[in-house]
Amino acid sequence: MEEEVAMKIETKAVHAGDRKRRSGAAIPSATPIHTASSYLYESTAQLDRVLGREEPGFSYSRYDNPSNAALEELVASLENGHDALACSSGMAALHIGLLAALTDRRKSILAASALYGATTAMLMNVLEPLGIAVNFVDVCDLDAVRQKIAECKPGAVVMETISNPLLRVGDLDGIAELAHAAGAALVVDNTFATPLLLRPLEHGANIVVHSLTKFLSGHGDVLGGIIVSDPDHAEVVRALSRTLGPVLGPFESYLTMRGIKTLALRVERQSNNACRIATWLGSHPKVGRVYYLADPQHPDAAVIRRLLPEGLYGALVSFELKDAGKPEVLRFMDRLKLIVRGTSLGDVHSLMLYPAIASHRDISPKQRERAGIRDSLVRLCAGIEAVDDIIADLEQALD
Ligand code: PLP
Repeated sequence: MEEEVAMKIETKAVHAGDRKRRSGAAIPSATPIHTASSYLYESTAQLDRVLGREEPGFSYSRYDNPSNAALEELVASLENGHDALACSSGMAALHIGLLAALTDRRKSILAASALYGATTAMLMNVLEPLGIAVNFVDVCDLDAVRQKIAECKPGAVVMETISNPLLRVGDLDGIAELAHAAGAALVVDNTFATPLLLRPLEHGANIVVHSLTKFLSGHGDVLGGIIVSDPDHAEVVRALSRTLGPVLGPFESYLTMRGIKTLALRVERQSNNACRIATWLGSHPKVGRVYYLADPQHPDAAVIRRLLPEGLYGALVSFELKDAGKPEVLRFMDRLKLIVRGTSLGDVHSLMLYPAIASHRDISPKQRERAGIRDSLVRLCAGIEAVDDIIADLEQALD
């Protein structure tokens, strides 16, 4: 384990988790897909010890499974977490993560005002009706966070490392300090950043959540999520999962581990592509404002410089089309031949999302405008293709 902590993240992505699991005399070079839902033991006494957790072992796949255990070790290692638990979706992971954060704390959540739409919907439509107070704050304004924490006395603060679609980055260390001083846990959705760009537990987060569906699996063929916890929350996360049963299937675990082996290569390539695309967009006469983390004029530039590794700014670029409303944006997107039009991100292929009809569809145009998300704004997640081909596709669609 000590060896693993010392390894660089690119090496962990290839080696952590699966190499230690023996099958008979040999260690398989890839983690097998363990489909069994239950396990056979030599004696009932041994099963008793395993179920009583006096002896390590697998008993029932809602509790744990060797394929999932390998993935969990791998992601815990990438995030420098104490433990991880794989779930059937990012939303399932967020649900369990928030419940775990609120256990033994005030039933009150302070949430970032810019969150993935379904996360806001879960807070407003599921948790608030159950009696959990929900308040929102701009997490990029540390004074506002301080004030809201004093007002709302939350049991948990929840935020994303990079906001969607305007790519804002809050000061994790500062927010963690304020949350902890008030007795609140910090829950961070790290889906957009990946552990390559940022590891929130190293900055004071207590629980980190990923949608595995995105960069970690990386190929658009998995729906999954994962919760990485610090030592104080690992046990309660597992206990909640044993009861609620949101676990990931072993086949999805296998695909995700296979995807993670190339995570570092993909993120580096996608970041480089995004950087070239952002620069090119910035000088195109039909393109208005470009949102990209490496922009020296970015409103959170100082925080980004402190938190992110130099030269690795992620795959996302958002931009506005000049003098465009919804009909012009739809026409532009319809002309794309290579870039996929869709609702996800983090795949090997480049994908464009139109927030007004997708992630921010359920918000009124006025609210969107107030949040700075104009009808002329699109979000591109650069894939691993040759960047000249991505730019050529954008160019012909803009022309
Ligand atoms: N968090 C973020 C930032 C997302 O973008 C998404 C999905 O797009 C989710 C969570 C939910 O993940 P899933 O679709 O795997 O449930």
